[in-house]
Amino acid sequence: MRLSVRAYIPNPLRCIQCQHFGHSKTSCRGTLTCARCAEVGHESTECTRTEKCVNYKGEHTSFSRNCFAWKQEKEIISTKIKKQIPYQEERKLVKSQTPTHGNSYVSVAKKSFSAPTIEKNPDVSAVPSSKPSAFTTKGISSNNQLANSILSICCSRQ
Ligand SMILES: [Zn+2]
Ligand SMILES: [Zn+2]
Ligand SMILES: [Zn+2]
Repeated sequence: MRLSVRAYIPNPLRCIQCQHFGHSKTSCRGTLTCARCAEVGHESTECTRTEKCVNYKGEHTSFSRNCFAWKQEKEIISTKIKKQIPYQEERKLVKSQTPTHGNSYVSVAKKSFSAPTIEKNPDVSAVPSSKPSAFTTKGISSNNQLANSILSICCSRQ
């Protein structure tokens, strides 16, 4: 079975020696366990016994994707990856809200304006994507307003 669109979420790391998840053979401290029948002491390649998984003793091999342990590991990994997305999006937003005009007025205004807003929301990077985007949109509009008024002042002076 091939993974399609969500291939960017890596498959769980399963130790080929002890059949447990989360480490590789090179760092394994367990014993050689058959991936097919979950008995210790032989490899699965020549095993013809009934399928049984190491983790939940289900009627499937230890590398089966029907195994709850596999699904659980996959879920953990995808949650980890999804949590990183708001960080990246936020970075993008912060970048885009920085005025392109290298104007000292703007940077001073930005500093005094955005700093207290960030202090009020210390957990902003931890909450899921919906909240920070609302917060940053707010930040953009008020920053833009400020920047615009400052720019108009600058333009009228020139
Ligand atoms: Zn192992
Ligand atoms: Zn076996
Ligand atoms: Zn299982």
